[in-house]
Amino acid sequence: MTAHSEPLDSVLATVGETPLVRVHAAPDAVPVYAKVESFNPGASVKDRIGRYMLEAMLDRGDLAPGGTVVEPTAGNTGIGMAIAAGQLDLEAVFVVPEKFSVEKQRLMAALGAEIVTTPTDDGIPGAIDRAYDIAAERENAVVPEQFSNPLNVEAHYETTAPEVFDALDGAVGAVVAGVGTAGTLMGLARYAREQDPAIHVVAVEPEGSEFATLLGGDSDDRDYLIEGIGTHDPERNELFDPDLVDEVRQVSDRAAHAELKRLATEEGHLVGSSAGAASVAARRVAEAIDGGEIDAPADSVATVFPDSSERYLSKDIYGSFEDWSEHT
Ligand code: PMP
Repeated sequence: MTAHSEPLDSVLATVGETPLVRVHAAPDAVPVYAKVESFNPGASVKDRIGRYMLEAMLDRGDLAPGGTVVEPTAGNTGIGMAIAAGQLDLEAVFVVPEKFSVEKQRLMAALGAEIVTTPTDDGIPGAIDRAYDIAAERENAVVPEQFSNPLNVEAHYETTAPEVFDALDGAVGAVVAGVGTAGTLMGLARYAREQDPAIHVVAVEPEGSEFATLLGGDSDDRDYLIEGIGTHDPERNELFDPDLVDEVRQVSDRAAHAELKRLATEEGHLVGSSAGAASVAARRVAEAIDGGEIDAPADSVATVFPDSSERYLSKDIYGSFEDWSEHT
């Protein structure tokens, strides 16, 4: 199928149907394929939930026509939701911790959204609390709340996952994806388990993040630079279901940064640090399948590259590791 070969009525129709592209630095016997989500109109995977969640909430009557959405976000969800809100005649307010990239805030504002920043030290939990305070003060305002709303998972179960499986004719041995809200991975995992319960499901997080503790593993709680994935407050994430995950793999900032640079120079991909982390983990999983350490029902690994490096140029993402560390 050729996606978007007909004239389209709205930019919302360009969300999804992104290409699945082979990652070449992986064993020949176990190819790795990445869903390149920067092909979405807001240039990230989050356009999918922006459209899906707002349309579903309007359909169900959970959101009044002409109402306001107030959403805590690291930025990409804000951009995706701002596109959808604009086309669906809704107002949008986004609550963003200060540390996230300035490009994202400018793009949300360009799309007509109002931006409220919260202190970096309060993290995402601080942004979530603030979003509920703002919604309580305004009329017809709701918090879609990507961190707890099952519609986030459903968006990926209904779109991302079938696209991946169709492109590979169902021959998927493992799915590997970074976890922020965990919506992407949970949608993929639910779909994968329905196709074949033996498909190996891997969550990817930065070293220093603590999703690993939800599977009984250890993690030292410390800061990390990779943007868009990880948590310091795993209990607060309501979507991550440990029963759907075989393992959590942690990737260092240094390895993710080296990989996003390699992906640009060797494979022509302009991707952010969470894609670098996903790629490192997916390649390790492919090697483990190749070496017989992981038993998978097919010799292939599917992963997701969530966004583009253009979003992080202000953070010197293509500088040395030290330059990037200093600006991130
Ligand atoms: N990478 C980036 C750059 C993101 O913005 C996000 C969303 N926070 C993710 C990965 C993780 O996606 P999810 O929230 O579906 O787990």
